[in-house]
Amino acid sequence: MKSPFHVMIIPTLGCPSKCHYCWSSDEGSPRMSIETIREITEWLKDYRSDQVTITFHGGEPLLAGADFFRQALPILAGGLGHLNPTFALQSNLWRLTPELARILAEYNIPIGSSIDGPEEINDAQRGKGYFQKTMRGYEIATANGLEVRFICTFTRLSVERKEEIFNFFLARGFPLKLHPALPSLRSEDPKEWALEPEAYGDLLVYLLDKYLENLGQIEIMNINDLCKCIFIRHGTVCTFVDCMGNTLAVGPDGSIYPCYRFVGMPEYVMGNVYDRPTPDDLARSDAGKLMHAFKEYVDRECGECRHIRYCRGGCPYNAIAPTNGEIRGVDPHCIAYRRIFDEITDRLNDEMFGSTDFETGEFGSPYRRKAKPGIMSILQAMATK
Ligand code: SF4
Ligand code: SF4
Repeated sequence: MKSPFHVMIIPTLGCPSKCHYCWSSDEGSPRMSIETIREITEWLKDYRSDQVTITFHGGEPLLAGADFFRQALPILAGGLGHLNPTFALQSNLWRLTPELARILAEYNIPIGSSIDGPEEINDAQRGKGYFQKTMRGYEIATANGLEVRFICTFTRLSVERKEEIFNFFLARGFPLKLHPALPSLRSEDPKEWALEPEAYGDLLVYLLDKYLENLGQIEIMNINDLCKCIFIRHGTVCTFVDCMGNTLAVGPDGSIYPCYRFVGMPEYVMGNVYDRPTPDDLARSDAGKLMHAFKEYVDRECGECRHIRYCRGGCPYNAIAPTNGEIRGVDPHCIAYRRIFDEITDRLNDEMFGSTDFETGEFGSPYRRKAKPGIMSILQAMATK
């Protein structure tokens, strides 16, 4: 199965927010020029013939301003028309204005934003006033017909209040996508906020149960993805496929990196759009070789794991960034992945070949007794969407 082609454009690494566990820099950090957008377009024209998804990411991409997006979107959409580009945006929405929202709406751009739960929990880890500013942006976005989904970052502190956080998303009718806080590469105490892999695994199993208790009333995107990738035996999000080569990020000066997470780290620059590198050129860069070495490492180290086909060793950034580019292991979240993959696989096997206490809907015999929803119910709900 071929992985989708995804290019992230990082107009700036700056951000007006000061989330405690984030690595973005000051609001005033350099911005991408429209000239660089033209160069990205020229580079991508002949780079690959696959459909491309372009995500504006940051830092905070809306710091680039309305003029940037008013010019950049037609240049990219027009110049790459043969690749049928779709766009997305990841933003805290603080700088969203009705003018910007209308520009984004013209291109049907779905927005991923971030809220970590109720205001008090959110602001304790993202900074005072964050919640209200993001919610104001959310109102502007939805008033202009934009779809917004929130990523909820769980830290070692907020995970203690997981029930309140889950109930917040449930009550507001927001789909939930969770993200574990990673150890900071720039802090004296890197693990201050990080969610430990064991706690992350427990959280995923907890959310699986909450999802099944409340099926049809909330969507938990990570659980959907995990169930789906086990069922089709292939990853459906970047963490669980070989992302190398299929995901790329372009920084404010046109430098190309393996992913937005590496942007601003000079040792991971693979090339620059101004030089129009080919896929082979990027693969020959030091960062390209390192990503490939990670893939080979996973083939060896995870060879015996029953989940390797749809896990692929997890995220290479998580594995290699904290060790300064040395491959000393797979993604440290392996413990969490294994826990939830085991849980879903065992439950699915039980539903399909074991006990009859689960709803199986059209996947099973009509004579089976209807009982509590299981993994099949999640898959069925996804199939009928
Ligand atoms: S490095 Fe990690 S976050 Fe980036 S594309 Fe790969 S799996 Fe996804
Ligand atoms: S669960 Fe762990 S051992 Fe298994 S494939 Fe994923 S990273 Fe490798």
